[in-house]
Amino acid sequence: RAKRDGGVSYRRFEPEMNDSLQRANTLARELKTAIQGDELSLHYQPVVAFDSGKIVSVEALLRWHNPQYGYVSPVEVVAIAEQYGLALELNEWVIKQACLQYQYWVSLGLETVCVAVNISPSMYVLHDLAASLTRLLRETGMPPERLIVEVTEDTTMRDIESSPDTLHNLKTLGVQIALDDFGTGYSSLNHLKRLPVDKLKIDRSFIQDLNITPKDPRIIRSIVNLAESLDLQVIAEGIEFVQNVDDLIAEGCLLGQGYLFSKAVDSERIVEMLSAQGQGIPLFQLGADERI
Ligand code: C2E
Ligand code: MG
Ligand code: MG
Ligand code: MG
Repeated sequence: RAKRDGGVSYRRFEPEMNDSLQRANTLARELKTAIQGDELSLHYQPVVAFDSGKIVSVEALLRWHNPQYGYVSPVEVVAIAEQYGLALELNEWVIKQACLQYQYWVSLGLETVCVAVNISPSMYVLHDLAASLTRLLRETGMPPERLIVEVTEDTTMRDIESSPDTLHNLKTLGVQIALDDFGTGYSSLNHLKRLPVDKLKIDRSFIQDLNITPKDPRIIRSIVNLAESLDLQVIAEGIEFVQNVDDLIAEGCLLGQGYLFSKAVDSERIVEMLSAQGQGIPLFQLGADERI
């Protein structure tokens, strides 16, 4: 609804636009301090093996409570970091924090599981991710094979030609690689087979429709078949219903995460969960009738 007067657009003076720009500017400024200070945190969402009900890994997810704007979703935080040149700092903070947390679990004598971190597009495309990882693994003493680096299928498409090399460099460090939000990125089989990845994470849009659209179980099946032929592990995202688990098992997918099991929980709660698991206390009952 730009006001026009003699062909001149006054669009940029609309108050709404001013608000969102102001919000972005404020958040960007405060994000910089938040990264250096103590305002950001990571929560951890369990990835569960359907057969045993055990946590096999946890995904670190960014949380930010801003004094003025309250909870700011990680999608917005990441978008702002990308726009305002804070991607390197933010991603390094996340990786370091996740590695330190892993080492903390080790120090508590917990039964540790792999920890996954998400990498934003600019970190992958513009910065030297392998160099950052090398340094952070060394600084934290993190065992590389226990770290999973999640990159979206879409991100790997931003630089199709260099993606195989970029990922090979990461593999050389010994970390695991997961393709996130798989199925939404339109990558070709040709692209995919050149990428040295270990896991495919089926985007939650396919899982949540599982009951509704009869076509999607077949999509899940074809992703599972693809993963099998490339020797990759497959993980389903966004599992909310018991029925989803049954459907996924029927299609050959045996690992997943979602609110049905647990949302991302804070560092204290994940310690409790890992500790319970170490003591053999079942966290997720997968019996036929009383699941969860
Ligand atoms: P993602 O990596 O695909 O992470 C999964 C998202 O789905 C998380 O949202 C998680 O809380 C949510 N989720 C998990 N289970 C369910 C479910 O059963 N139902 C529904 N509706 N949602 C579920 P979250 O934490 O809001 O993160 C959103 C996205 O933001 C992530 O998608 C990732 O792309 C990005 N992100 C989050 N943390 C980080 C981070 O530390 N660094 C970077 N670069 N990106 C991050
Ligand atoms: Mg992810
Ligand atoms: Mg995802
Ligand atoms: Mg996503």
